[in-house]
Amino acid sequence: MPTYPYICEDCGKPFSITLSYREYEKHKVRCAYCQSEKVTRRISRVRFARSEESRLDALADPAMLAGLEDDPRAMAKMMRTMSSEMGDEIGEDIGPEFDEVVDRLEAGQKPEDIEKEMPDLGDAPGMGGDIGI
Ligand SMILES: [Zn+2]
Repeated sequence: MPTYPYICEDCGKPFSITLSYREYEKHKVRCAYCQSEKVTRRISRVRFARSEESRLDALADPAMLAGLEDDPRAMAKMMRTMSSEMGDEIGEDIGPEFDEVVDRLEAGQKPEDIEKEMPDLGDAPGMGGDIGI
């Protein structure tokens, strides 16, 4: 089951909850320390909020991504660009899977093959069926 990292706005402590995707959708998340409901989801791994700045909307444009499906190296380059632009927001949370995926793309491996060989990717929220972009 995926683990969702949160930070409590009241006591400032980070914590994580582990929920199935279905539970997550209807679960009211409370701080593990003070039971406050004022908790903020921390960005995890290769997951971006669509409401981010416009440059990210451009990067997430499906039309632009369509061509990349067939060009793993171009996709790897774009993912590296995204990760460096997003560095402040993602920070240390980006996780080792991201580098692994990018390395494999740069080696010319197809995204679907990468998913097969890295089943853990399926557990990450937002990673879905298309390596999370
Ligand atoms: Zn708290």
